[in-house]
Amino acid sequence: MNNGRGQFLVERCDWAKDNSKLLIYHDKEWGVKETNNRKLFEKLSLEIMQAGLKWTLILDKRNEIIKAFDDFDIEKISEYSINDINRLMSNKNIIRNQKKIEAIIYNARICRSIDLKKFIWEPFNYSRLDHLLHTGDYKYIDSFISKYVLQFKRNGFKRIGNKTLYSFYQVIGVINDHELKCFYHNR
Ligand SMILES: [Zn+2]
Repeated sequence: MNNGRGQFLVERCDWAKDNSKLLIYHDKEWGVKETNNRKLFEKLSLEIMQAGLKWTLILDKRNEIIKAFDDFDIEKISEYSINDINRLMSNKNIIRNQKKIEAIIYNARICRSIDLKKFIWEPFNYSRLDHLLHTGDYKYIDSFISKYVLQFKRNGFKRIGNKTLYSFYQVIGVINDHELKCFYHNR
């Protein structure tokens, strides 16, 4: 699209236009295929942290959260003790929700014994799904996501609900939910 001044205007998903932080996140990270186990664990944990809160709050605190959780090193977190829970609960710069923190530690112990990348991507044959969304279509699709939620639950993961998992799958690119009009849809 040309705005008449010779500048090329990039069309984006509607939600990304709300503020500059969301816009950068949308352009650089959202929906980019992620296969690194540590990054997958980090992104899953951030989705757990987000539940019930605004994503922009997580973006604001993200660097502090990553620092507080040892760069989401699965081995390190799986060995966290009550002292670490107390340390995290007294850190004002992160999300201080004990149930969420405990779930992340618990999930790290599971991730130590499975290959998270394989666990996530194998059911999709390592390729992306495309829901061919139009503006306003945003909704998590229970009938689609519930069987994958069950898979996580059967393996013992905590605090993985339909919304959390669907959002995670959007972020890591399992599902391409960029709107069809969005410049990044065919990235
Ligand atoms: Zn988009």
